[in-house]
Amino acid sequence: MGGTPELKLYNTLTREKSVFKPIDAENVRMYVCGPTVYDYAHIGNARPVIVFDVLFRLLRHVYGESHVTYARNITDVDDKINARALRDYPGLPLNAAIRAVTEKTETQFLEDARALGSLEPTVQPRATDNIAEMIEIIERLIARGHAYQASGEVLFDTKSMADYGQLSKRNLDEQQAGARVAVDAHKKNPGDFVLWKLSDDNEPGWESPWGRGRPGWHIECSAMSGRYLGDVFDIHGGGLDLIFPHHENEIAQSRCAHGTDVMANVWMHNGFLQVEGRKMSKSEGNFVTIYELLHTETFAGRQWPGEVLRLAMLMTHYREPIDFTWNKLIEASNTLSKWKRAAELLSSQSTAPIDPQVLKALADDLSTQRAVQRLSTIAGSAFAAFHERGAVSEHEVEQEQQMLVATLVASAKLLGFDLLEKTEIDEAVAVEVDARVKARLEFLKAKNFAEADKIRDTLAAEGIQLKDGKDAATGERVTTWEIKR
Ligand code: AMP
Ligand code: ZN
Repeated sequence: MGGTPELKLYNTLTREKSVFKPIDAENVRMYVCGPTVYDYAHIGNARPVIVFDVLFRLLRHVYGESHVTYARNITDVDDKINARALRDYPGLPLNAAIRAVTEKTETQFLEDARALGSLEPTVQPRATDNIAEMIEIIERLIARGHAYQASGEVLFDTKSMADYGQLSKRNLDEQQAGARVAVDAHKKNPGDFVLWKLSDDNEPGWESPWGRGRPGWHIECSAMSGRYLGDVFDIHGGGLDLIFPHHENEIAQSRCAHGTDVMANVWMHNGFLQVEGRKMSKSEGNFVTIYELLHTETFAGRQWPGEVLRLAMLMTHYREPIDFTWNKLIEASNTLSKWKRAAELLSSQSTAPIDPQVLKALADDLSTQRAVQRLSTIAGSAFAAFHERGAVSEHEVEQEQQMLVATLVASAKLLGFDLLEKTEIDEAVAVEVDARVKARLEFLKAKNFAEADKIRDTLAAEGIQLKDGKDAATGERVTTWEIKR
């Protein structure tokens, strides 16, 4: 593992943090449940995208770029999609209307994910391209006595699996208590769930041994993970809300179809992005879409770059809830500006390995919040070295500073930040601040201290700190600035 500490991950299946051991270090395999493409993704949906991208990057760092397979599906068959298609494209035939909705939404999701600084997963299978695989699993489940047909549906028989409920630690009796028996009279047990349901002429459908129909949601992920990662793979991820029923049912289907003890060895779940203590969600109506945040000026009168949202998320450990506030975005924006200003000091030839403390933090169940703090410390030290210029041997200071800045850039990259890339907003801010700093220097030259101080105070009020110094070569007064945290 070349200099990287042992990777420890919290596993929802065991409720413990333990050392990660891949099934095959040559091909580490991770599956994360992707979006149902009927509408714009909200910034809560951005959390699993970002969290598992950091894990993907870390795994690639540890096992080698070509030794990690990351699959994230696109759910493009779902009753919510049908409803949206009928609403938005009433004039089109249903199939064309559905395609219009799913293609548009999928394109937007991929663009959002890219803007958040996420790498493309190795494979991004669509449910509708894997219907044959789903039918095959359902056939196996029926043949093995784990599924049955009733009232136009094929259902999974939860009582047929001795240890159903292992992930969510629910037992079947608990589930029975909350079940709506009247609606589900055709089910053998209230917890039984749909694998396949028949479609009428106004619904999308595929031919199957049980008639023209469509899959249930859970079977999609069993089929796609099995096809691309195998019957048993390393890591399965998603948000906390997916533990039950979605992941529980994925496990039931895959294990019973393949006769295996586990589906994935490690199950990881990110906490919720919340607004005033409640999960951000479409149904609560308390959501902000990624698109709105990035491309409109609805929020605090400005557009917010994806990397700012990314950092705002990574400032909290992935299993903790995040209370979403604009202050959090402002804090992330200031931190990122500070890192980028430090990165500007980098001369092109300097390179450095990733900081060991950043690696250590990430290897400890993805403690991105600690990695972020460490990056700020490194950036702070780089600035300090800069201001020490001339105090000790200039060459030594220069070398130390280059080392710090190169470490900062390499380590931030592992978290998905390209500090050498300017964002438009940063540039606009920088140009504007530079102009005011220059104006102040002019006032100082003209001995108009009142006006000079006014500029300094206004900048300070905006969180921008000035440092006056002397240019070593010319002896002229120079002023640098940084955004204070
Ligand atoms: P959905 O489209 O609702 O299936 O959600 C897609 C992914 O986003 C799933 O992994 C969800 O668990 C996750 N997710 C949804 N809402 C939130 C939220 N408020 N905070 C964090 N993750 C969420
Ligand atoms: Zn899934």
